[in-house]
Formats: sequence, C-alpha cells, structure tokens
Amino acid sequence: MRKGMNRRCDKCQEKRLYDERYDAWYCLTCDEWLEKECGDSNCFFCAMRPHKPSRRPKGEVNRWRELLKELYKRKGSHNEM
Ligand SMILES: [Zn+2]
Ligand SMILES: [Zn+2]
Repeated sequence: MRKGMNRRCDKCQEKRLYDERYDAWYCLTCDEWLEKECGDSNCFFCAMRPHKPSRRPKGEVNRWRELLKELYKRKGSHNEM
C-alpha cells in the first residue's frame, strides 16, 4: 500500500482518507482529492474518479476490488511509473 498514512490535509489539517478504488487520497472536509490525476489518458483509476470525493458511488466495493486486483497485476502500482 501507499506511504504516508498519517499525513493530514494541507488546508484544514483533518486526517486525510484513502479510497482504494481510485488509489487516491482525499479530504472529506474540503471535499477535494489531494492528489492530481496522474496524466495517463489510459489510466483507469483517474478515468473513473468523480470530480468530487462526495460524488463517489456508494457500495460495490467488492466488485471494484476484483477489478483492481486485475489492473494492478497488469499495470503495477498507480502513480509510480
Ligand atoms: Zn481538508
Ligand atoms: Zn491515474
């Protein structure tokens, strides 16, 4: 998994949260992603990421998990290419 579990949001200093579906950190208080998209136009993670964290679909995490397992197998880890 990613490093920096204990880092906080730069703006509000709340604890930041991680969404494994998009492999990205976010702040619920600011309702903002704390990571820019990686810039790969073929990137599944970024393509699926909603504009705001509050607009993430609820549920279906198990289905995502299977999908992501496949992707990681093919692509290696996100944002570290
Ligand atoms: Zn914040
Ligand atoms: Zn990406």
